[in-house]
Amino acid sequence: MRSGTLAIRRMLTFAAMIDVLLKKGKEKAVTQRHPWVFSGAIERLKGKPANGDIVRLTDSGGKFMAYGFYNDQSRVALRLLEWDESIIVNEDWFRAAVKASVISRSSLLVEGITNTCRLVFSESDYLPGLIVDKYADHLAVQVLTSGMEKMMPVIIDELQTLLKPESIFDKSDASSRSHEGMETTNVSLTLNPPPEFVEVLENGLRYHINIAEGQKSGFYCDQRENRKIVAMHAKGKKVLDCFSYTGGFTLNCLQNAAGSVTSVDSSALAVDTLMQNVTLNNFDPAKVTALTSDVNKQLRKFREEGETFDIVVLDPPKYAPSRSALDKAARAYKDLNRLGMLLLNKGGLLATFSCSGAMNMETFKQVLAWAALDAGKQVQFIHQFCQPEDHPVRSSFPEGEYLKGLLCRVF
Ligand code: SAH
Repeated sequence: MRSGTLAIRRMLTFAAMIDVLLKKGKEKAVTQRHPWVFSGAIERLKGKPANGDIVRLTDSGGKFMAYGFYNDQSRVALRLLEWDESIIVNEDWFRAAVKASVISRSSLLVEGITNTCRLVFSESDYLPGLIVDKYADHLAVQVLTSGMEKMMPVIIDELQTLLKPESIFDKSDASSRSHEGMETTNVSLTLNPPPEFVEVLENGLRYHINIAEGQKSGFYCDQRENRKIVAMHAKGKKVLDCFSYTGGFTLNCLQNAAGSVTSVDSSALAVDTLMQNVTLNNFDPAKVTALTSDVNKQLRKFREEGETFDIVVLDPPKYAPSRSALDKAARAYKDLNRLGMLLLNKGGLLATFSCSGAMNMETFKQVLAWAALDAGKQVQFIHQFCQPEDHPVRSSFPEGEYLKGLLCRVF
């Protein structure tokens, strides 16, 4: 276990003395409590902070504006933490923020129903660069900023105190760490690592989670509520779950007595785990066809074979990593959805998602409208999906809103 809280307290007291001056005219976002300051908005520094230090941001006249993490390698040079000058951003500040975030998830975790969720969601939970996911009695953390990296001994200690987890795994393998000048890591922070598969419960369903080898920190808990909503329509239906990963939508549909589910994912590990999860929940494996395949190719193949479905789920990975990639991504989403619509029986349902933050709901509806025109179909939007409460959207940080979806009835 890493420790060194005393050293951290010293570091904070010292570093908070360094001032970073903002350029004139760049104050608006800061006063509106947006947590990012881009390097281009900085006038100068009074001193030389190390990357990850906490500094004092002032306006160009030297008046206090906020405290934040500093990093000169990142385009986001400052990640703001606190706007009240009288509040000292020390170890206790971080402990209190972690505690508030963990406590806010209490009502989501229901014994015998759900024991997995996101406990901390970075900027949206006032802790820039920290993600903590709970998998039953195990935790997975991702650390994406150098400032948070320095605070990790305190964060880990607080998580231990609050939750007494059996293991904590550092799954900081996101490429975004390189923007902050950090290496990726994939290592247990506790003496006992998590088992190869941790068993969790979500919506009363059992899942095997492979924290070390799985995607993200092991599971996409952001689809918890949306899986339930899609499954409400699945009784007796023939379902196609595209980009199925370990079976989130598949299992929920089986739980609600789907007639059959075909699940498609390009990851063999995901498809293997999906079949494990089918058995784990005592569902009839004969109802499930799990294909390790590229979705675009598979959809075209189904079309050639004349295969049709009552419900098609499309939950692809992020197609637009940034705003500049939006046009290209919109075309990819349109094509995917056109193919999905063509496979539906008349009046069938398309549950389609985008986890690209750069694509907003309005644009996504437009993409669906284009797809419908191209497919020669008529579409009713009957439900709008969003991210669940353990992925909050902070009003001063719209960038935290990324997951959206539409349930469409297709004629
Ligand atoms: N629906 C899932 C989460 C999907 S995440 C759930 O509820 O848990 C996106 C998935 O798409 C990942 O599992 C990834 O392996 C898969 N994927 C990415 N590109 C793909 C492609 N071209 N064809 C098939 N699967 C793909």
